[in-house]
Amino acid sequence: MIRKLALGTAAGTGVAGALYYTQTQRQPPPPITEPKKRLPKYELPTKVKYLLIGGGASSFGACRGIRAVDPKAQVLIVGREDYLPYMKAPLSKEMWKSGADKDRLLFKQWNGDYRSILFEKPDYFANLDSLKQPDERRVAFVGGLSAVKVDPVEQKVFFDDGSSISYEQCLITSGTEARMHPKLANLPGIEKHLLTVTSVEDFKKLQQSACEDESIAVLGSGTVASELAYSMSDFAKRSNAKLKVTQIFPEAGNLSSMVPEYLAKWLTKQLISEGINVIAKADIASAEIVAKKLHLHLTSGQRIVVDKVVLADDLRPDVKLAKASGLEIDPQNGGIVVNSELAARSNLYVAGDASSFFDPRLGRRRFEGHEHAVSTGTLAGRNMAGARKPFSKQTLMWSDIGEIVNLEGIGLLDPSLKTVSAFFPDSPEENTDFEGKITKGVVFYKNDADVVVGILLCNVFGKASTARRIISEQKPSLDLKEVAKLFYEKYSPEEEPEEATIPNPVTES
Ligand SMILES: Cc1cc2nc3c(=O)[nH]c(=O)nc-3n(C[C@H](O)[C@H](O)[C@H](O)COP(=O)(O)OP(=O)(O)OC[C@H]3O[C@@H](n4cnc5c(N)ncnc54)[C@H](O)[C@@H]3O)c2cc1C
Repeated sequence: MIRKLALGTAAGTGVAGALYYTQTQRQPPPPITEPKKRLPKYELPTKVKYLLIGGGASSFGACRGIRAVDPKAQVLIVGREDYLPYMKAPLSKEMWKSGADKDRLLFKQWNGDYRSILFEKPDYFANLDSLKQPDERRVAFVGGLSAVKVDPVEQKVFFDDGSSISYEQCLITSGTEARMHPKLANLPGIEKHLLTVTSVEDFKKLQQSACEDESIAVLGSGTVASELAYSMSDFAKRSNAKLKVTQIFPEAGNLSSMVPEYLAKWLTKQLISEGINVIAKADIASAEIVAKKLHLHLTSGQRIVVDKVVLADDLRPDVKLAKASGLEIDPQNGGIVVNSELAARSNLYVAGDASSFFDPRLGRRRFEGHEHAVSTGTLAGRNMAGARKPFSKQTLMWSDIGEIVNLEGIGLLDPSLKTVSAFFPDSPEENTDFEGKITKGVVFYKNDADVVVGILLCNVFGKASTARRIISEQKPSLDLKEVAKLFYEKYSPEEEPEEATIPNPVTES
């Protein structure tokens, strides 16, 4: 639990949920001021030493990494969104729970404390002008500004308002973007029926829709889609809203692109039993708008009438800026190609969801997850400041599918690999009709050489470093039922170093 707290989330609600909900007597802290902070009349300096593009988790990590090596660094963060740098993970879960304060972007942690989704308090950020004072050790942020092109030779970035800035070191953290469904793309008037789930503004629209609409379809089987389907449905139940949530995807079950089939089907059954209309093995065949409602004709023959559709299927790396800048895009995983030091070109780095990095153990890959973004951002920042270190950490992603299960995944989570499951106390033995309740479990993913390359932990807390170690050691032919016992041992805080600690701007000064 300690690491989860350190990461600033209320992950682990499956176990800690009871505690979370019983501490409702606590009052929210006083306002931390309006999170939006656009600088209305900004004038960019002509040059900055460190320029970070994007205001998400990797940028936050990079800021820390730079300042760990170069404590007097002057850093400028430029983000497309009108919000100070913030974390996205709570937008599909914690921000939907009782006690969350959506206006001030505060959510309740498992221990009952409030925290903001913002990484830093507004007063952490300096006035842009202070970057023009060479002796000032400052971080400034400009929101509502999009980088449209980087010239890696001239070391210059161009923005959508016509301005530009030269840099000594630059980091791109463009994250992911929603994918338009091909059958909806050309439907006249469809815009009014579409929602996405990648930003605070998206979250606010989703909340409004959950309060007002009768029917919403979430497209996609992945973690964000599944978390959101649960959260919206649960929110509607608690607030007596009339909303009915449908989740539609072509795969066999929820999280099919990550977990073995029996687990995916099990998850689907659990979500259905929570009142969500999950339609697996179906896609939109055609759509029409009739009397302000969207009629979805599915490949399964079903017809669903909804007010809105959430495009939560297959969030893809946002590579618009990279393409416009002539950077290499990985044809396999769609990310921006970087080397082991996370550099795409000289003095130009990429971190987080958008990067396709080289992992010396597991090969070239892309990984989406908050901790990965903070860790790659931190390393990129350190390297920008001269550290020249390769990225070698096995980072993790986590997901809370409501109260159903908490998942933590490390390494290659590819269900097309051979998997071995070990659940406590009873193992489902890859049974495709698994009906039981998951207490704790581990799924190992093995490559052709019988080496563990990925580990998924189900309701197992504080054991990520054990999983990292097993993947890093690359020992073949392990007795995995024995190895699994390491994950059932009692959690010891000493075992899990606090990594990627994020201060809580609400409770810490
Ligand atoms: C709803 C949701 C829930 C999630 N839940 C979890 C979870 O429970 N656990 C987990 O491990 N991970 C979770 N994730 C994934 C995690 O949030 C991401 O892995 C992480 O945010 C990636 O960080 P990043 O810095 O690469 O990109 P982001 O955090 O996406 O930040 C990128 C930012 O860059 C901006 N940007 C893009 N292009 C430009 C440009 N050209 N100019 C200026 N700005 C630009 C974008 O607007 C965006 O704000 C979730 C993601 C979402 C969307």
